[in-house]
Amino acid sequence: MSKVKCIPYGRQTIEEDDIEEVIRVLRSDWLTTGPEVARFEHALAERVGAQYVVAFSSGTAALHAAYYVAGLREGDELITSPITFAATANAARFLRADVVFADVEARTVNISPEKVREKITSRTKIIVPVDFAGHPAEIDELRNIASEFGLTLVQDASHSLGATYKGQPIGSLSDMTIFSFHPVKHITTGEGGAVATNNANYYQKLLTFRTHGIERNPKLLGEFHGPWYYEMQDLGYNYRITDIQCALGTSQLRKLDRFIKRRQEIAQLYDDLLSGVPSVMTPTVASHVTHAYHLYVIRVLRSTEERRRLFEYLRELGIGVQVHYLPVYWHPYYRSLGYDKGLCPEAERYYSHCMSLPIFPTLADEDVIRVVNAIRDYLGE
Ligand SMILES: *Cc1c(COP(=O)(O)O)cnc(C)c1O
Repeated sequence: MSKVKCIPYGRQTIEEDDIEEVIRVLRSDWLTTGPEVARFEHALAERVGAQYVVAFSSGTAALHAAYYVAGLREGDELITSPITFAATANAARFLRADVVFADVEARTVNISPEKVREKITSRTKIIVPVDFAGHPAEIDELRNIASEFGLTLVQDASHSLGATYKGQPIGSLSDMTIFSFHPVKHITTGEGGAVATNNANYYQKLLTFRTHGIERNPKLLGEFHGPWYYEMQDLGYNYRITDIQCALGTSQLRKLDRFIKRRQEIAQLYDDLLSGVPSVMTPTVASHVTHAYHLYVIRVLRSTEERRRLFEYLRELGIGVQVHYLPVYWHPYYRSLGYDKGLCPEAERYYSHCMSLPIFPTLADEDVIRVVNAIRDYLGE
């Protein structure tokens, strides 16, 4: 018997012109921060409707930078969702701040504005909604809460590049918006991330944080000894992204609309094919958003044991299902900081039933049908 084709849950789409762009940069004078970084930043700013974009070596670095320039420090609190990749919370720990988890809404699995409000204290500095799976969070409510309490709104849009909220592109709605260009995300630079903002002060600080806290602009220097002179005005990191990566990013960005459209088609096909399967709940989409479908997450309604058996059955067939995510505070690192199970009941209920099905632009309709048929075979529905 020939081995069946394995389907991953996500993968990058790299085409010939992407490869040529990278080769072009390899033959040029610049490899690290040169003209391609600024070109990518401008293209992304234009695409997401933001005044400024600063690209970073990863989405995690971008989160760290955003939290830092928003003033998050030891003793402060940051409120975020427990259903996210751990980096959303970890970047606050880099700054020795405390992470407060507010529970999610049952349907969208996005942070609940009401629960956020309940968690605000005199130490709260930042609210970080995560546009889970590509469905934008309730940004208007969250922005109102942030301005009422004088807090900064940092949107983790690692899943939602190309999505819209009330007709506006994600990237223009919060004080800062974070993107990731890891290969499973909508477009890739290998590793990479970005912060989009309309705030000139944040923009300046993000630039220096990315490169050792060094300032070179003569107008912003305390002293000037000659053309060689630069100052390290604050402690910063080497979080730079390369020209090689940004050439790939610019090339990929041109394809974003096509990639999103295909993801939406795949989601529609899953929705249709799974609509007659009573034990499976498909994702809901609010009428005021468009969904970017970084993930397509079903809920297996029978039981958490049945979810696990179905998961193993599909993996056995070479179907790369995944579970996104373990509530962040269940990780041993967070448990060691004193967080207990039971903190966010809705998130925990979600975790015990969820399963991500394969979705990426080059996934064929036949593969979607194969995945759904396997689910139906197992469930007998
Ligand atoms: C991917 C991701 C990140 C981190 O991105 P990296 O580029 O891998 O560092 C942060 N938050 C969420 C929700 C993500 O999915």
